[in-house]
Amino acid sequence: MPLSEFELIDRFFRGRGASRSDVRLGVGDDAALLECPPDRELVAAIDTLVEGAHFPAGSPAASVGHRALAVNLSDLAAMGAEPAWALLALTVPRADERWLEEFSRGLAALAKEFGVALVGGDTTRGPLCVTIQILGSVERDTALTRSGGAAEEALYVSGTPGDAAAGLQLELSRLEVPEARAARYLRDRFLFPAPRVALGRRLRGYASACIDVSDGLLGDAGKLARASGCGVELDYEILPVSRMLAEAVGPERARELALTGGDDYELLFSVPPSRVDALLRDLPVEQWRYARVGTLRREPGAVVTRNGSVIDFSHYGFDHFAAGR
Ligand code: ADP
Ligand code: MG
Repeated sequence: MPLSEFELIDRFFRGRGASRSDVRLGVGDDAALLECPPDRELVAAIDTLVEGAHFPAGSPAASVGHRALAVNLSDLAAMGAEPAWALLALTVPRADERWLEEFSRGLAALAKEFGVALVGGDTTRGPLCVTIQILGSVERDTALTRSGGAAEEALYVSGTPGDAAAGLQLELSRLEVPEARAARYLRDRFLFPAPRVALGRRLRGYASACIDVSDGLLGDAGKLARASGCGVELDYEILPVSRMLAEAVGPERARELALTGGDDYELLFSVPPSRVDALLRDLPVEQWRYARVGTLRREPGAVVTRNGSVIDFSHYGFDHFAAGR
């Protein structure tokens, strides 16, 4: 007998994630009652994942649950905020118990890791689509934004961008990586991204502007720069790429993927020259895993330079990649 909507919610979504004392009323009533901490601002974000658009059809359910929350956690990370509560609007074609079990486990594991309580949602039938709204808070007037940067500031990125894009290509069978360990690493970077919440929290007081990298380093650097009323220059030579990615696709294509791939969910942030020493001292790069990628500059637009000259990126991207260039 198929699950009723009530049974489905009760079984897979009631009391999932972290339990928090600031949840007065969670799943089960008409709405959730949440206690907002004093002296803090409420931070809210929402993101939708559509099957076939944001993840391949047939993706592992645990990954769909993980990513749906991870992309939202990443948005809060970019604001320097602390996540607290999530609401889930889930559209599924049918009540597939095994799929739902795996999905909710993937979601709940990440929610627990970041102290997030699932406090409500909506469940409907239709083509697979997952929307999560995340709520959190940040100490008043300390949130990071995209718009605080200025020319001459140093630009850094966390982690090793490009891995997730290669992982997606692997999932789509458009890339082959013979070495099993490298293939698993790259796949995992797409299927189970790690939102940089702790780094975002620590960057307050150092970073002047911050954005999470979801659409590729080059495009997102351009967004940060534009919001900050300036431009940006990325230095091809110093782009951090993982050894796994470089070995899998070669050092050149690895950097192309780092610049133009997506789904990294790393943090890209600018730091005023006067704060760089303090940043490097207080947040050691070996521990926090970030690297310089370029500089904000007065001239608008986003450019990549290599050995001092601008390189054209208009012909790079997945078409070439898919064609096995
Ligand atoms: P209503 O008709 O009042 O919207 P629903 O039957 O849609 O109520 O939901 C009942 C309760 O279950 C509500 O508290 C709602 O927030 C919660 N809920 C529904 N779907 C989900 C879900 N996918 N995840 C978490 N909570 C859910
Ligand atoms: Mg409802």
